Amino acid sequence: MEMREETERLMKLQEKMSAYRSAMSLMNYDGDTTAPAKTAENRAHAMGILTAELYGMNTAKETVELLDHLQEHVDELDEKTRRMTALMLKNIREMEKIPKAEYVSYRQLLVKAGAVWHEAKEKSDFKLFEPYLQQIFDAKKRFAGYCAPDMHPYDYLLDQYEEGLTIADCDRFFGTLKKHIVPLLSKIASRPKPDNGVLQGDFPDAVQEKLAYWLMEILGLDLQHVGLGTTEHPFTTSIGSHHDVRITTRYVPDRFDRSMFSVIHEGGHALYESHVSDSLAYTVLDGGASMSIHESQSRFYENLIGRSRAFMEILLPKLSELIPEKAEGVSTEDLYRAVNRIEPTLIRTEADEVTYSLHVMVRYELEKAVLSGDLSVHELPEAWNRLYREYLGIDVPDDRRGILQDSHWSGGLIGYFPSYALGNAYGAQFRQLMKKTVDIDACVRKGDLAAVNEWNRRNIWQYGRIYAPADLLKRVLKAPFDPEAYTSYLEEKYGELYGF
Ligand code: ZN
Repeated sequence: MEMREETERLMKLQEKMSAYRSAMSLMNYDGDTTAPAKTAENRAHAMGILTAELYGMNTAKETVELLDHLQEHVDELDEKTRRMTALMLKNIREMEKIPKAEYVSYRQLLVKAGAVWHEAKEKSDFKLFEPYLQQIFDAKKRFAGYCAPDMHPYDYLLDQYEEGLTIADCDRFFGTLKKHIVPLLSKIASRPKPDNGVLQGDFPDAVQEKLAYWLMEILGLDLQHVGLGTTEHPFTTSIGSHHDVRITTRYVPDRFDRSMFSVIHEGGHALYESHVSDSLAYTVLDGGASMSIHESQSRFYENLIGRSRAFMEILLPKLSELIPEKAEGVSTEDLYRAVNRIEPTLIRTEADEVTYSLHVMVRYELEKAVLSGDLSVHELPEAWNRLYREYLGIDVPDDRRGILQDSHWSGGLIGYFPSYALGNAYGAQFRQLMKKTVDIDACVRKGDLAAVNEWNRRNIWQYGRIYAPADLLKRVLKAPFDPEAYTSYLEEKYGELYGF
C-alpha cells in the first residue's frame, strides 16, 4: 500500500517536470524555426529560470528521499517504476555533483551558442563561434570531472547518449567499418558514376513541401500529432510527450532528394517517438532507448526503405505528378541508381550510405582528441580539413561546409555522433531479423508500411526507455551485435549496383 502511494508521488513529480521540459522544448523549437533573430537573449532568460526550477525539483530533499526510499524497496516495484527510479537517481546523483550556478549558466550558454553558431555558419567564420565552443568543451570536461572523476571524460560523455559505450568499443566498431568501407569505396570509385540528373533542377518549396507531406503519410505518421517545420539543420523533437512530435526539414532549391531523405530520416525518429506506449507519457521513459537506437530507426527508414528498389516504384509515380518534366522518360532503375550514387561529399547529412560513417569517424576522432587534451578547440578546423582529406579524399573549401556544418556542438551534444554510425549498423541487423516474418519490399511497393511499423513498434518503439540500449538490443536480436551485418549489406547492395 505504502509503495503505491510512493509510486503515485513519483508519477506526479515526473508529470510536473515534463511540463517544464515541454515549455523548454517548445522554446527551443521556436528558436530553431520561426523566432526573430534577436530573441535568443530573451529565451535564454526564461530558460535560465525554468532550468533552475527543474534543477531544484530534481535535487530537492523530498525528491531524493522519495527515490532513495523506492530504491530500497526495489524488489516490490514493477519494471517501469524500477527503471524510472534508477534513471532519475542516476541523473540526480550527477546533477548534485555539478554546482547549480554552473549548470544554469551552461544552459544559458547553449542558447547563446546556438544563435552564434547560426551567425558564424552564415558568415562561414569559425572564429566567431570558437570562444563559445571552447566554453562548451570546457564545461563538458568540468562536468565529466565532477561526475566521474575516474573516467576518461569522453567515456563519460559517450555514456550520456549510449549507456555503457566506451572509447574502446568505438575504436573497435569504427575499425571494423573502416576495414570494409575503405576498400569498398575505392572499388566504387573505379566504376562509372550513375547519372543523377533526375534529382537536379529547380524545385520550388511548395512542391517539395507536397512531397514531404506525402512521405509522412507513406511512413504512416499521424499528421494530427506530428508536425513539419523548416530549419537549417533538420531534427525531431517531442514537446512534453509522444503525443506532440515535430520534425523539420530543409528545402534545397536545386536538389529535391535532400529534403526528401531528411523527411524520411526525421520521420523515422518521429515514428519511434510517437509509438512509445501511452502508459509512459509524462515520465522519464517517454522517448527512445538511446540515441543510437533512435538513429537505427531513422536510418532504417531513410536508407533501407527510402533507398530501396521497391521504394522507387511508388516514388516515381509521385514524382511524375509533382515534377512531370523531370520524371518523364525516367525508369525506376534510373531513379534507384541516382539516389544510390556514391560520392565523397562535404556535408554529413547529405552523404550517401557508404561514405556516411566516414563523416562520423571524423567527428569521433576530433571529439576524442579534444577531450584527451591532444587537440585544442582552436586547432579544430585545420584538423577537420585534414581528416576529410585523409578519410574522404576531398578538400574542405570553407568553415561553413566544414567544421560549422553541424549544430550538435553548439547544443552541447558532444559524444553524440558515434550514435549515427552505430544506428546504421543496428538497423541493418534489425532488417535481417524483420525479413524473416515481414516481406518488407512488398509492403513498400504497396505504399503501406503497417507491417514494418508494427514489427518496430512491437520490438522496439513501445518500450520507450524501459530497457537500457544494450538490453533492448539483446532482447530484439537474441544474438550479439554484429557490425558485419551492416558492412555485408553495403558490400552486397553496392557490389550489385556497381557491377563487381
Ligand atoms: Zn537522426
